[in-house]
Amino acid sequence: MPASSTAERVALDTDAQTLTILWADGHTSVFPLDGLRRACPCAQCRGHGGTRPGPEVFGEPPERMWTDVRAETVGTYALRLTWDDGHDTGLYRWERLRALCPCDECRSDEDVT
Ligand SMILES: [Zn+2]
Ligand SMILES: [Zn+2]
Repeated sequence: MPASSTAERVALDTDAQTLTILWADGHTSVFPLDGLRRACPCAQCRGHGGTRPGPEVFGEPPERMWTDVRAETVGTYALRLTWDDGHDTGLYRWERLRALCPCDECRSDEDVT
């Protein structure tokens, strides 16, 4: 069964430093915010070398806390995150977020490129 990339609910918790996505198929992804920032897909962040970071970014220790982050959906295809340094050009497509899910279940049976 292909993983769902439809988000039912998005919860941002700056105390816990996580973004939690509940998917339509019942799966829950919990992303550390700092890892999400490092996985920012925008041209500005990807400009050097251009490699897309994979879920390994979530295994790295956070470089900083993000205290004022906003999340808004963009159409039906992506989530826009606005960071407290004003950075807001990263559009995280739902499929991409689902592919990045750092949970053990997703990491054990998948190799993300
Ligand atoms: Zn960016
Ligand atoms: Zn998962």
